[in-house]
Amino acid sequence: MVIKLKHTFILLISTTFILSSCAQAQAQAHAIIKIGLIADPQYQDAPGSGERQYRESLWKLNEAIDTFNYYQVDFIQNLGDIINEEWRSFDSIIPVYNRINPDTETYHLLGNHDFSIDSIQMTDLLETLSMPDCYYSYVKKKWRFIVLDATDYSYYANPLHNHPIDKIDGSFASTEGLPNHYDWNGGIGEEQQIWLKKTLDSAKSLHQKVIIFSHMPLKPEHATNLWNHKEIVDIIESSSNVVAFINGHRHEGGYAFENGIHYITICGMVNTMISSYGILEIYRDSLVLKGFGNQQELAPEQTASHGWKVLLEKK
Ligand SMILES: [Zn+2]
Repeated sequence: MVIKLKHTFILLISTTFILSSCAQAQAQAHAIIKIGLIADPQYQDAPGSGERQYRESLWKLNEAIDTFNYYQVDFIQNLGDIINEEWRSFDSIIPVYNRINPDTETYHLLGNHDFSIDSIQMTDLLETLSMPDCYYSYVKKKWRFIVLDATDYSYYANPLHNHPIDKIDGSFASTEGLPNHYDWNGGIGEEQQIWLKKTLDSAKSLHQKVIIFSHMPLKPEHATNLWNHKEIVDIIESSSNVVAFINGHRHEGGYAFENGIHYITICGMVNTMISSYGILEIYRDSLVLKGFGNQQELAPEQTASHGWKVLLEKK
Protein backbone atom coordinates (compact mmCIF):
# COMPACT_ATOMS: atom_id res chain seq x y z
CA MET A 1 0.00 0.00 0.00
CA VAL A 2 1.42 3.38 -0.94
CA ILE A 3 0.10 6.50 0.74
CA LYS A 4 0.89 9.98 -0.51
CA LEU A 5 1.89 12.01 2.52
CA LYS A 6 3.44 15.08 0.99
CA HIS A 7 4.41 16.03 -2.51
CA THR A 8 7.98 14.95 -1.93
CA PHE A 9 7.40 11.99 0.35
CA ILE A 10 5.71 8.65 0.23
CA LEU A 11 5.16 6.14 3.01
CA LEU A 12 5.25 2.56 1.84
CA ILE A 13 3.75 0.02 4.20
CA SER A 14 4.48 -3.57 3.34
CA THR A 15 1.51 -5.84 3.89
CA THR A 16 2.98 -9.28 3.44
CA PHE A 17 6.13 -11.07 4.51
CA ILE A 18 6.98 -11.91 0.90
CA LEU A 19 6.68 -8.32 -0.26
CA SER A 20 8.66 -7.16 2.75
CA SER A 21 11.42 -9.71 2.26
CA CYS A 22 11.79 -9.04 -1.45
CA ALA A 23 11.89 -5.30 -0.97
CA GLN A 24 14.43 -5.62 1.82
CA ALA A 25 16.61 -8.02 -0.15
CA GLN A 26 16.60 -5.67 -3.11
CA ALA A 27 17.18 -2.60 -0.98
CA GLN A 28 19.90 -4.26 1.10
CA ALA A 29 22.19 -4.47 -1.90
CA HIS A 30 22.37 -0.72 -2.26
CA ALA A 31 22.30 0.64 1.29
CA ILE A 32 24.65 3.60 1.65
CA ILE A 33 24.72 3.38 5.44
CA LYS A 34 23.34 0.79 7.88
CA ILE A 35 22.86 1.87 11.49
CA GLY A 36 22.22 -0.45 14.44
CA LEU A 37 19.72 1.21 16.78
CA ILE A 38 19.22 0.30 20.45
CA ALA A 39 17.01 2.08 22.96
CA ASP A 40 16.64 1.66 26.70
CA PRO A 41 18.30 -1.63 27.67
CA GLN A 42 18.06 -0.35 31.29
CA TYR A 43 20.24 -3.20 32.48
CA GLN A 44 20.49 -3.95 36.18
CA ASP A 45 21.13 -7.16 38.08
CA ALA A 46 17.68 -6.91 39.63
CA PRO A 47 14.38 -8.79 39.38
CA GLY A 48 11.86 -7.63 36.79
CA SER A 49 9.10 -5.20 37.58
CA GLY A 50 5.95 -5.22 35.50
CA GLU A 51 6.95 -5.35 31.84
CA ARG A 52 10.53 -4.28 32.59
CA GLN A 53 12.94 -7.22 32.72
CA TYR A 54 16.21 -5.66 33.84
CA ARG A 55 18.43 -8.77 33.91
CA GLU A 56 17.24 -9.99 30.51
CA SER A 57 18.82 -7.04 28.72
CA LEU A 58 22.20 -8.77 28.73
CA TRP A 59 21.14 -11.58 26.39
CA LYS A 60 18.89 -9.25 24.42
CA LEU A 61 21.80 -6.93 23.74
CA ASN A 62 24.04 -9.89 22.91
CA GLU A 63 21.45 -10.94 20.33
CA ALA A 64 21.33 -7.41 18.91
CA ILE A 65 25.12 -7.25 18.59
CA ASP A 66 25.18 -10.66 16.87
CA THR A 67 22.57 -9.36 14.41
CA PHE A 68 24.47 -6.13 13.80
CA ASN A 69 27.66 -8.11 13.18
CA TYR A 70 25.81 -10.39 10.76
CA TYR A 71 24.35 -7.45 8.81
CA GLN A 72 27.68 -5.60 9.07
CA VAL A 73 26.17 -2.31 10.19
CA ASP A 74 28.36 0.73 9.66
CA PHE A 75 27.91 1.89 13.23
CA ILE A 76 25.69 1.56 16.31
CA GLN A 77 23.77 4.47 17.73
CA ASN A 78 22.61 3.84 21.27
CA LEU A 79 19.63 5.96 22.32
CA GLY A 80 20.21 6.15 26.08
CA ASP A 81 19.20 4.50 29.35
CA ILE A 82 21.85 1.81 29.09
CA ILE A 83 21.38 1.06 32.76
CA ASN A 84 18.44 1.17 35.12
CA GLU A 85 20.43 1.94 38.29
CA GLU A 86 23.86 1.44 39.91
CA TRP A 87 27.28 2.22 38.43
CA ARG A 88 28.28 -1.47 38.44
CA SER A 89 25.56 -2.11 35.84
CA PHE A 90 27.83 -0.36 33.29
CA ASP A 91 30.58 -2.88 34.10
CA SER A 92 28.32 -5.70 32.94
CA ILE A 93 26.71 -4.16 29.87
CA ILE A 94 29.46 -2.08 28.23
CA PRO A 95 31.48 -5.24 27.39
CA VAL A 96 28.45 -6.52 25.47
CA TYR A 97 28.51 -3.43 23.22
CA ASN A 98 32.23 -4.09 22.77
CA ARG A 99 31.44 -7.40 21.03
CA ILE A 100 30.67 -5.42 17.87
CA ASN A 101 33.10 -5.92 14.99
CA PRO A 102 36.33 -4.09 15.88
CA ASP A 103 36.06 -1.58 13.04
CA THR A 104 32.44 -0.65 13.90
CA GLU A 105 31.95 2.45 16.04
CA THR A 106 29.38 2.62 18.86
CA TYR A 107 27.98 6.09 19.61
CA HIS A 108 26.24 6.69 22.92
CA LEU A 109 24.00 9.45 24.25
CA LEU A 110 22.72 10.34 27.70
CA GLY A 111 19.39 9.10 29.10
CA ASN A 112 17.78 9.89 32.43
CA HIS A 113 18.39 6.42 33.92
CA ASP A 114 22.12 6.68 33.18
CA PHE A 115 22.17 9.22 36.03
CA SER A 116 20.69 6.78 38.59
CA ILE A 117 24.17 6.59 40.14
CA ASP A 118 26.01 8.48 42.87
CA SER A 119 26.33 12.12 41.84
CA ILE A 120 30.11 11.99 42.36
CA GLN A 121 30.33 9.37 39.59
CA MET A 122 28.52 11.49 37.00
CA THR A 123 31.70 13.24 35.88
CA ASP A 124 32.98 9.82 34.75
CA LEU A 125 29.97 9.14 32.51
CA LEU A 126 31.32 10.64 29.27
CA GLU A 127 34.60 8.75 29.51
CA THR A 128 32.82 5.49 30.38
CA LEU A 129 30.55 5.90 27.36
CA SER A 130 33.42 7.08 25.10
CA MET A 131 31.50 10.26 24.36
CA PRO A 132 33.44 13.34 23.18
CA ASP A 133 30.93 15.65 24.87
CA CYS A 134 27.35 15.71 26.19
CA TYR A 135 26.19 16.56 22.63
CA TYR A 136 28.15 16.20 19.43
CA SER A 137 27.88 15.37 15.75
CA TYR A 138 29.65 13.12 13.26
CA VAL A 139 29.66 12.72 9.50
CA LYS A 140 29.38 9.54 7.45
CA LYS A 141 29.22 9.59 3.66
CA LYS A 142 27.79 13.11 3.38
CA TRP A 143 25.21 12.49 6.13
CA ARG A 144 25.45 14.53 9.35
CA PHE A 145 24.36 12.73 12.50
CA ILE A 146 23.56 15.01 15.41
CA VAL A 147 23.51 13.57 18.93
CA LEU A 148 21.52 15.66 21.40
CA ASP A 149 21.61 15.71 25.19
CA ALA A 150 18.01 15.52 26.40
CA THR A 151 19.18 15.54 30.03
CA ASP A 152 20.78 19.00 29.62
CA TYR A 153 18.21 20.85 31.74
CA SER A 154 17.17 18.36 34.41
CA TYR A 155 17.43 17.97 38.15
CA TYR A 156 18.91 14.45 38.14
CA ALA A 157 21.78 15.28 35.72
CA ASN A 158 22.76 18.71 36.99
CA PRO A 159 25.77 17.48 39.00
CA LEU A 160 27.29 16.88 35.53
CA HIS A 161 25.91 19.92 33.72
CA ASN A 162 26.13 22.53 36.50
CA HIS A 163 23.46 24.87 35.12
CA PRO A 164 22.04 27.61 37.37
CA ILE A 165 19.08 26.00 39.13
CA ASP A 166 16.71 28.80 38.05
CA LYS A 167 17.24 27.76 34.41
CA ILE A 168 16.07 24.24 35.24
CA ASP A 169 13.21 25.51 37.40
CA GLY A 170 12.07 27.72 34.53
CA SER A 171 12.22 24.94 31.96
CA PHE A 172 10.35 22.51 34.22
CA ALA A 173 7.76 25.14 35.17
CA SER A 174 7.03 25.78 31.48
CA THR A 175 5.46 22.30 31.31
CA GLU A 176 3.03 22.95 34.20
CA GLY A 177 -0.33 21.45 33.31
CA LEU A 178 1.08 19.68 30.22
CA PRO A 179 1.30 15.89 29.70
CA ASN A 180 5.12 15.86 29.96
CA HIS A 181 5.33 17.66 33.33
CA TYR A 182 7.57 15.04 34.96
CA ASP A 183 10.94 15.52 36.60
CA TRP A 184 12.30 12.38 34.90
CA ASN A 185 12.07 14.18 31.55
CA GLY A 186 14.41 17.04 30.67
CA GLY A 187 15.00 20.01 28.39
CA ILE A 188 17.57 21.22 25.88
CA GLY A 189 19.28 24.35 27.17
CA GLU A 190 20.08 27.65 25.48
CA GLU A 191 23.73 26.85 24.66
CA GLN A 192 22.83 23.51 23.14
CA GLN A 193 20.09 25.15 21.04
CA ILE A 194 22.62 27.65 19.65
CA TRP A 195 25.00 24.78 18.88
CA LEU A 196 22.18 22.84 17.20
CA LYS A 197 21.30 25.79 14.92
CA LYS A 198 24.96 26.29 13.99
CA THR A 199 25.43 22.58 13.30
CA LEU A 200 22.32 22.49 11.09
CA ASP A 201 23.54 25.57 9.19
CA SER A 202 26.97 24.00 8.75
CA ALA A 203 25.42 20.77 7.44
CA LYS A 204 23.27 22.75 5.01
CA SER A 205 26.26 24.67 3.66
CA LEU A 206 28.03 21.35 3.07
CA HIS A 207 24.93 19.85 1.36
CA GLN A 208 24.62 17.20 4.06
CA LYS A 209 21.33 15.56 4.98
CA VAL A 210 20.76 15.26 8.72
CA ILE A 211 19.49 12.63 11.13
CA ILE A 212 19.14 13.67 14.77
CA PHE A 213 19.36 11.28 17.72
CA SER A 214 18.03 12.05 21.19
CA HIS A 215 16.90 10.12 24.25
CA MET A 216 13.54 11.90 24.56
CA PRO A 217 10.95 12.30 21.81
CA LEU A 218 9.51 15.46 20.24
CA LYS A 219 6.43 14.03 18.52
CA PRO A 220 3.70 12.88 18.72
CA GLU A 221 2.39 14.54 21.89
CA HIS A 222 3.20 12.29 24.86
CA ALA A 223 4.06 12.25 28.57
CA THR A 224 7.66 11.28 27.74
CA ASN A 225 8.37 14.24 25.44
CA LEU A 226 11.23 16.63 26.00
CA TRP A 227 10.12 19.54 28.21
CA ASN A 228 10.78 22.11 25.46
CA HIS A 229 9.95 19.86 22.53
CA LYS A 230 8.13 22.67 20.68
CA GLU A 231 11.25 24.89 20.67
CA ILE A 232 13.34 22.09 19.21
CA VAL A 233 10.66 21.21 16.65
CA ASP A 234 10.70 24.87 15.51
CA ILE A 235 14.48 24.72 15.03
CA ILE A 236 14.63 21.46 13.11
CA GLU A 237 11.49 22.00 11.01
CA SER A 238 12.78 25.39 9.87
CA SER A 239 15.93 23.65 8.64
CA SER A 240 15.23 22.00 5.29
CA ASN A 241 17.86 19.27 5.57
CA VAL A 242 16.59 17.21 8.55
CA VAL A 243 15.23 13.87 7.39
CA ALA A 244 14.56 12.06 10.68
CA PHE A 245 14.54 12.50 14.44
CA ILE A 246 15.12 9.19 16.23
CA ASN A 247 14.82 8.60 19.98
CA GLY A 248 14.05 6.16 22.80
CA HIS A 249 12.59 6.82 26.30
CA ARG A 250 9.00 5.98 25.27
CA HIS A 251 9.20 2.22 25.58
CA GLU A 252 6.19 1.29 23.48
CA GLY A 253 7.66 3.18 20.51
CA GLY A 254 5.94 5.73 18.32
CA TYR A 255 5.93 7.40 14.92
CA ALA A 256 4.87 10.68 13.37
CA PHE A 257 5.56 12.29 10.02
CA GLU A 258 5.16 16.06 9.99
CA ASN A 259 6.58 18.87 7.91
CA GLY A 260 8.96 16.58 6.08
CA ILE A 261 10.52 14.93 9.14
CA HIS A 262 10.12 11.33 10.29
CA TYR A 263 9.83 11.24 14.09
CA ILE A 264 10.74 7.67 15.06
CA THR A 265 10.69 6.25 18.60
CA ILE A 266 12.57 2.96 18.94
CA CYS A 267 10.94 0.52 21.40
CA GLY A 268 12.61 -0.05 24.76
CA MET A 269 14.74 -3.21 24.92
CA VAL A 270 14.00 -3.65 28.64
CA ASN A 271 10.32 -4.32 28.04
CA THR A 272 8.89 -7.84 27.75
CA MET A 273 10.75 -11.15 27.43
CA ILE A 274 11.68 -10.73 23.77
CA SER A 275 14.39 -8.45 22.51
CA SER A 276 13.88 -5.22 20.60
CA TYR A 277 16.19 -3.30 18.27
CA GLY A 278 16.35 -2.00 14.72
CA ILE A 279 18.59 -1.42 11.74
CA LEU A 280 18.08 1.83 9.87
CA GLU A 281 19.20 1.61 6.26
CA ILE A 282 19.88 4.75 4.27
CA TYR A 283 19.57 4.73 0.50
CA ARG A 284 20.07 7.42 -2.07
CA ASP A 285 16.39 8.36 -1.94
CA SER A 286 14.90 6.38 0.92
CA LEU A 287 15.09 5.14 4.50
CA VAL A 288 14.17 1.65 5.66
CA LEU A 289 13.83 0.60 9.30
CA LYS A 290 14.14 -3.12 9.91
CA GLY A 291 12.51 -4.16 13.16
CA PHE A 292 13.67 -7.12 15.25
CA GLY A 293 11.79 -8.67 18.19
CA ASN A 294 9.41 -6.26 19.84
CA GLN A 295 10.37 -3.51 17.41
CA GLN A 296 8.18 -5.23 14.82
CA GLU A 297 5.14 -4.26 16.84
CA LEU A 298 5.91 -0.56 16.73
CA ALA A 299 2.98 1.56 15.67
CA PRO A 300 0.76 -1.39 14.71
CA GLU A 301 -1.62 0.78 12.71
CA GLN A 302 1.26 1.59 10.38
CA THR A 303 3.13 -1.67 10.40
CA ALA A 304 2.95 -5.07 8.85
CA SER A 305 3.99 -8.11 10.86
CA HIS A 306 7.60 -7.68 9.76
CA GLY A 307 8.27 -4.09 10.57
CA TRP A 308 7.68 -0.99 8.56
CA LYS A 309 9.41 0.98 5.88
CA VAL A 310 9.67 4.61 5.13
CA LEU A 311 10.57 5.68 1.65
CA LEU A 312 11.17 9.27 0.77
CA GLU A 313 11.67 10.74 -2.62
CA LYS A 314 14.06 13.59 -3.13
CA LYS A 315 12.76 16.84 -4.50
ZN1 LIG B 1 14.46 7.38 29.63
